[in-house]
Amino acid sequence: MNASIPVIADPKVTRHILSAFHLRASKRLGQNFLVDRGVVQGIVDAAELSPADTVLEIGPGIGTLTQGLAETGARVVAVELDKKLPAVLVETLKGYDNVTIVPGDILKLNISEILGLPNGSRFKVVANLPYYITTPILMTLLEQRLPIERLVTMVQKEVAVRMTARPGSKDYGALSVAVQYFTVPRMVMDVPPRSFLPAPEVTSAVIACHVQDVPTVQPVDEKLFFRLVRAAFGQRRKTLLNALTGAGLTKEMSRAGLTSAGIAENMRGEQLSLADFARLSDAVGSLERQEE
Ligand code: SAM
Repeated sequence: MNASIPVIADPKVTRHILSAFHLRASKRLGQNFLVDRGVVQGIVDAAELSPADTVLEIGPGIGTLTQGLAETGARVVAVELDKKLPAVLVETLKGYDNVTIVPGDILKLNISEILGLPNGSRFKVVANLPYYITTPILMTLLEQRLPIERLVTMVQKEVAVRMTARPGSKDYGALSVAVQYFTVPRMVMDVPPRSFLPAPEVTSAVIACHVQDVPTVQPVDEKLFFRLVRAAFGQRRKTLLNALTGAGLTKEMSRAGLTSAGIAENMRGEQLSLADFARLSDAVGSLERQEE
């Protein structure tokens, strides 16, 4: 720990920074600042950082988690949307020469470009995510097939439960399939509202996702796979036979696909594993090609 720099993850220090810069946490931008150094350490530990790592932080806020990341010696690139904060971060993180702040929207920036990594290098993502756009951020990162090694994020507990849910549970849905398609997720810890300033209304959780070199299952047509997954969960109460029409399948095609994949017509999406969805997608794909 750099002894000359106060730890930002502390209610008093955070209040002082907010007041010194005349800042108020913006609800619209999902600003709940961490004030619990145990949680910051837990996130940093889960990322298993070394000075050889490059880490992308999404939404550094006033630099609380950034400081913990920077202390490991890793190169930290932090993207912040709030235009007021880069000037604050220059001050709060001034003792660290391994941090670069990039102003902008994580959903719009070219991540490879801002990281400037040599070909073949991988990076880690660490974030206390703004809750209003958790799913779009996760999906953007995963679907771009960026060379991410590990993703450690704070999300609402309810979202973490959905990310790790197994088939058959009420929390299993399109997000579970997508996350478990690209990664192997693991719950790290629950985080109570009092660990933040201001305190959110919900319990949060830290989740670590190990991104795989190849997806958990390999359907022939990935787009079709996700179209079927979305349709199956889009109308959860319907049987698969009916729900799959939401993916543009005729009822006949839906029936033929299910039969060919060995899946009963009256099952529901939440009962299918990733392997079942892949089998179904390959069956439908091959029937569609036969029809052409
Ligand atoms: N990392 C800090 C911490 O742990 O205390 C702040 C976390 S706060 C929950 C989320 C941060 O994400 C805020 O600083 C917010 O301004 C920023 N943010 C919101 N939307 C963003 C976006 N689209 N791109 C980048 N940052 C964003």
